[in-house]
Amino acid sequence: MSALAAYIKDIVANGQEPNAAMVGYLANLEQVAKVDKSIPAAIIKELEDQRSYLKMIASENYCSLSTQLTLGNLLTDKYAEGFPNHRYYAGCDNIDNLEGQACKEACDLFGAEHAYVQPHSGADANMVAFWAILNKVVQKPYMDKVGETNLYNLTDEQWAELRATFGHQKLLGLNYYSGGHLTHGYRHNVSARMFDAYTYDVDPKTQVLDYDSIRKQAEEVKPTILLAGYSAYPRKVNFRIMREIADSVGAVFMVDMAHFAGLVAGKAFTGDFDPVKHADVVTTTTHKTLRGPRGGLILAKKEFGDFIDQGCPMVLGGPLPHCMAAKAIAFKEANTPEFQEYAQNIVKNSKSLAGYLSEGGVNLTSGGTDNHLMVLDVTNFGLTGRQAEDAVRAAGITLNRNSVPFDPNGAWYTSGLRIGTPALTTLGMGEAEMKEIAQVVIEILESTTANIIASGKNAGKKSLAKATTDEAVIASCRERVTNLLNRFVLYPELDTEILKQVLN
Ligand SMILES: *Cc1c(COP(=O)(O)O)cnc(C)c1O
Repeated sequence: MSALAAYIKDIVANGQEPNAAMVGYLANLEQVAKVDKSIPAAIIKELEDQRSYLKMIASENYCSLSTQLTLGNLLTDKYAEGFPNHRYYAGCDNIDNLEGQACKEACDLFGAEHAYVQPHSGADANMVAFWAILNKVVQKPYMDKVGETNLYNLTDEQWAELRATFGHQKLLGLNYYSGGHLTHGYRHNVSARMFDAYTYDVDPKTQVLDYDSIRKQAEEVKPTILLAGYSAYPRKVNFRIMREIADSVGAVFMVDMAHFAGLVAGKAFTGDFDPVKHADVVTTTTHKTLRGPRGGLILAKKEFGDFIDQGCPMVLGGPLPHCMAAKAIAFKEANTPEFQEYAQNIVKNSKSLAGYLSEGGVNLTSGGTDNHLMVLDVTNFGLTGRQAEDAVRAAGITLNRNSVPFDPNGAWYTSGLRIGTPALTTLGMGEAEMKEIAQVVIEILESTTANIIASGKNAGKKSLAKATTDEAVIASCRERVTNLLNRFVLYPELDTEILKQVLN
């Protein structure tokens, strides 16, 4: 008997209803196993791995099983280049409705004027947004000036002039080392090559944004785009003030809310701190605090809508209809009182974890947090971020090392750890668990010592890469983490012992 049939037979014999998520997963894995069992084996292993470590990576979360089950189906077969009701392929009526619905859900959720749900990721969303803005503020005026509407009617000289003009536009975004993202003008990213890229920093003393200094810099640089948003900045950003700065220098104001979209959707960030109210264009991922499928989303003021909708052919090829469907489900889930409570709890947990860490002698950049993440400066423990990351992972905690502002140890070794509470909060954890986790992190850091390099030109110095943690402390911390994981089980609907039957 198949694993699916056996599960249903047993459940019904016990007088119970089969669980839809369990049936969905079993059917899915059983069908995949017909081609190659190693893939369902890897899916089950990933669930087991995720259940054995505390997920404190600030950019990760656990999306709903409804969202996941929306991703695996025949929608992936359809080409739908273009945008709803304007396609380059026949037979898109159904995708038109589906994508239109996802856009409407996004607008309802965020109070946006326009939504574009095709970007496959946050980086894609930024690339579409950048080029949409350039088309609006550079290409459109140029075409108007030369009296053309078709790019192919330009002379070679005009085309060269337009292309050169694109290359001279200025982007002003948050520096990578102050918590900005690679796509905000980092030299190894295409954003720094297509733009003349400038960055602003946090204040070296307070480690928070100083709007007066950003204003001064914006007046000097006169950027085409002023970009706000971050991946590792633990404070709120006042988007009303940033908008004023953008307006005062004639810049388009763009916000990348990839990290905190869930806090905006869940109304934990409102008023001055709601970017959708203030920015011309807002980009985001859908899989971080927003807790949807892996993907990207763009929201915009009406006058930018037509330009954003040109994401294909400008940057993208065909959209992923199955992902757009899953986004629609996630937006609907986020537009509920339960999600609003979730968003509030993310911040509550973050503040309480930060409080317990500080009390225990951990230095937090900017002294704390008012969002879903915090950055620990571990230099007072004599460690680099890399050493601290390895040490806490041995105790069952997954997080990532991160540069602190103006980090002397660079982007590879770093001096910090970034911690986020979105995934812990999805599991249902609260203040008591934050206290326990803070104690575990502190114990591990206190029991870890950097090794001394034995020979070579750095002999006698502390290794940036290697450190040793007291074995007994690792063991006891690992046990405390496992106890927490056993009390807050990931996807409790899914029984791995039964799922594994598909591998027989
Ligand atoms: C995560 C992130 C991105 C990139 O998202 P991907 O889906 O990984 O491409 C872009 N911007 C910011 C601010 C981010 O935090």
